[in-house]
This record gives sequence, structure tokens and C-alpha cells, in this order.
Amino acid sequence: MSTASATLLDTAISTETACRRIAELKHQLGEKLLILGHHYQVDEVVQFADQLGDSFKLARIASDAKDVEYILFCGVHFMAESTDILTRPDQIVVLPDLAAGCSMADMANADQVETAWDALTEHGMRSDVVPITYMNSTALIKAFCGRNGGVVCTSSNAEKVITWALRRADAAAREHRGPDARGRIVFLPDQHLGRNVSYELGIPLKDMAIWDPHALPEVNLDNGCDNARVILWKGHCSVHTKFLAPHVDAVREQYPGIQVIAHPECTFEVVQKADQYGSTEKIIRAVTDSPPGSKWAIGTEINLVSRLAKQNPDKTVVSLSGINCLCSTMYRIDPAHLMWALENLVDGHVVNQIQVDQETAKDALVALDRMLVLV
Ligand code: SF4
Repeated sequence: MSTASATLLDTAISTETACRRIAELKHQLGEKLLILGHHYQVDEVVQFADQLGDSFKLARIASDAKDVEYILFCGVHFMAESTDILTRPDQIVVLPDLAAGCSMADMANADQVETAWDALTEHGMRSDVVPITYMNSTALIKAFCGRNGGVVCTSSNAEKVITWALRRADAAAREHRGPDARGRIVFLPDQHLGRNVSYELGIPLKDMAIWDPHALPEVNLDNGCDNARVILWKGHCSVHTKFLAPHVDAVREQYPGIQVIAHPECTFEVVQKADQYGSTEKIIRAVTDSPPGSKWAIGTEINLVSRLAKQNPDKTVVSLSGINCLCSTMYRIDPAHLMWALENLVDGHVVNQIQVDQETAKDALVALDRMLVLV
């Protein structure tokens, strides 16, 4: 390691200069370095990604990247945490800006989840409840699921994971309460993904209830969580919930024949009105594989929609809403931060390393591994 002091961040640097320097630094680090980029990143960052994907695809790539020393994650904090958990202890994961968090992940903290779990336990429900957490959650919540027989899911595999968890919950319920008993799941932290996918699996809305972490446990139990098949944590994505049902009507009026595809983090009303819904990777496949002349309105983050429009000039590709639905935390990863992180790696300094403590990582890995063998 170098004894020189770390290079300081230069936020005033021009994008052009930063990009030129990033290319040089990336070349210097060679095969020691893997840059992972999420689809919601800006094009100036995406151009340097060795692999581009959604959180599930990137988690898989990270777990297979046995030979690299440094993984620079251009995404948000929970993704870098998952990468650290899935890689060897000697591999270094860097998030170029530590302020790149996720408001949805912050909507479920470990204390709130433990409080809910204690209430379910006191109510005699614990033995047949399986917790599921969306990938978009902190390592502590993934660890909670690992410790309590639960699992992680992504928007690509939520159907399979919920099906698996309900079967597991039902088996436990039969064992503890008799042959006709049914189990239940707690879905963290995105109520919309949990509701949309559970409904698609045939569970009616009346069998779902919301757990509000800011309400008293007894109020949540009285409001239906004492008897629901699916308990939905009251969290949401501030980007995807900006799409509204009237946007679907408006875009259909403006572009007759257009197909609407929405991410499952969108509300139930939007997903029900859309022609189809699916993960980021499914959205990309749907647009890319459609014939020339196809028209698409997409309910997801604007950087991905704009990229798809550029990559498919023979099709009409527009955002589902007139508002630019931008993930402001993803947007924090810019060329200046990327250059700064790489400069320091080349100089022998690791900045913004993401390290999950061993105990948490061990439990979180249990929940992540359960997911990876399921799909
Ligand atoms: S798009 Fe939503 S869920 Fe994804 S990182 Fe941004 S705030 Fe979090």
C-alpha cells in the first residue's frame, strides 16, 4: 500500500476529463478490477461497466467473480452490501459515493422488524410465518430472514420465491396446527412488489394486510395482520410509485396501440392497468425482442427508458409518465466519484469500501443462498 495521502474528490472536474481519466485508470488496474453497473445508472457511468444488470443478475455475477481483487459497484448501498456478502473476504467492494442509498431499503430497519416479529410470536403465529425480503433491503434485514427460515427475492424471481415460502409456511402450519392449517409470509420492505406478485399467484387482496412499522403492533394485528396469508411491510419505492393509473390512460390516448409495461414496484392500480409487468431484465427483453414499429410505454426509472429508446430507434419507447422518474440516489454515482475511487485504488488507497460484519454476513448469506438455489 502507498504511504502517500489519499486523492481528494474533485466534484468540479468536467465529465469529459473524468471519463478520459477513468479509461486510463481502468486500463491500469486491468484484470484486478470488475466494474458492475446497474441499469439505472447514467450513460456516462454505464460505458465503463464490465457488466450491466439488475440487482439479481449483478448478485450472480459478483458471486462468480472469483479472480478479481476489486469490485467497484455502480449502484446503491444495499447492492454493494450483497456483493460483499457474496464474495470472498479478501475481495474489496467499493461504492463510489456512500450517499448512494435507497429510500425503500431505509423503510425497514432491524429494530422495527424485530418488534413486528416479537408481536407475531406473542400472538402465536411465529411457527408458521416465513419472512421474505426483497433484495432492496439492508444486510441486517437479509440476516434477519436468514436466521428465521426466510429468504431473499428480486423482482425477477419473486413468484418462485413466494411460492416456495408459502409451501414452507404451510408445511410448518400443518405440523403445528393440524392438517387444514395454512401458513403465511411477511414480505419486506416493498408492499407493492409483494402485493402484485402475490395477487398474480392467486392470493386475493382480502388475504393481504399491511404492517405499518410506525403503528403499534396491536393496531397492525387488529387491522388484519393477525389473520392474513400475506403480511406486507409498509414500504415503497419513491421512484416507481410516481407512476399513476391516469398515466396509463393518457399514454394510450396519445399513442394508440401502445403496450404498457410496468415494473412490479409500481402500485397495484398501475400494474393491473398495464399490458404486462416485470423485472428490469424482463422489460429490456420485451422491448428488445419486439418487432420494428412496436410502441412501448415503460413504468420504470428514466435512465433505463432513455437508453432503451436510443438502442431501439425503429420503435417508439417512452416513459409511462410525463414526469422524469429518476432515482436520485443512483444518480449520485457520477464520473467524478468513479474517477476518485479508481485514482485511490491505483495509488494503493481503498476508499468507500463496503464491509458487512461477519455475523450479519453469515446470516444474510443463508437467505441469499436459499434464493440462489431456487432459481
Ligand atoms: S429505484 Fe427505488 S428501489 Fe431502486 S434504488 Fe432507487 S429508490 Fe431504491
